[in-house]
Amino acid sequence: MTDSEQYRVRQEPFYRQQGNEVALYAAAYAARLPVMVKGPTGCGKSRFIEYMAWKLDRPLITVACNEDMTASDLVGRYLLEAGGTRWLDGPLTTAARIGAICYLDEIVEARQDTTVVIHPLTDHRRTLPLDKKGELLRAHVDFQLVISYNPGYQSLMKDLKQSTKQRFTAFDFDYPEAELEATILASESGIDRALAAQLVAVGTAARRLKGHGLDEGVSTRLLVYAATLVRHGVAAGDACRMALVRPITDDRDIRETLEHAIDAIFA
Ligand code: ADP
Repeated sequence: MTDSEQYRVRQEPFYRQQGNEVALYAAAYAARLPVMVKGPTGCGKSRFIEYMAWKLDRPLITVACNEDMTASDLVGRYLLEAGGTRWLDGPLTTAARIGAICYLDEIVEARQDTTVVIHPLTDHRRTLPLDKKGELLRAHVDFQLVISYNPGYQSLMKDLKQSTKQRFTAFDFDYPEAELEATILASESGIDRALAAQLVAVGTAARRLKGHGLDEGVSTRLLVYAATLVRHGVAAGDACRMALVRPITDDRDIRETLEHAIDAIFA
């Protein structure tokens, strides 16, 4: 299997558009403009990019960024082997070579030096300097860089610099509105829509607590977990506690408030 085939999104990912983001992304891709997707965790950013990669028929290379990640992890490094050394491309380099969409998830988590290596890929140069190897890689015409960014987490210490931000077009993502979110839950888990709507109501109640003791609302991802538990025979209240309450807070008052909401919704 070629590299390119290996990264192909084979099946259409289930994705319900929130607005006109599909057409806007297609235009950004046609122009090969870099894209930033902003929004809270678990609201559909990654699913959207998977869907677009499938729709545009491009391979997709996703990198989950973390604080230990260095520029070499993205670009590549020499490996020591019995017979000498061998260069191994990192995921960003592979994407630039084969013309994939490279999705750097939670880019802010990565060390500052990683943002510097992406700069020349995001402007007219479309190049990636492989310093250690002494190669200046010209990105494939189909290559596109996409990053995700959760503005809620940002502190002064961890934020993208303006010089990085101003190299991207951007989408603001948020939790889907209630009707759409219920449709998503029903479709992802197989539970009926009325029950899905009740779970969404619990999510909505929890999201109202953001800024009042909760740093971030309940994600669509967690609501899908709750729905999936229900689909596997767990009682709705237990599913809510497992998926919507315990993961997000240890604060007794907030847990109690959420318990009341669950009781009221599933009374
Ligand atoms: P993140 O924003 O953290 O990248 P994901 O894309 O992983 O979040 O979304 C979490 C889950 O929420 C997905 O696995 C999917 O089940 C569901 N989801 C969220 N938005 C949508 C949507 N618009 N269409 C279909 N599924 C969605």
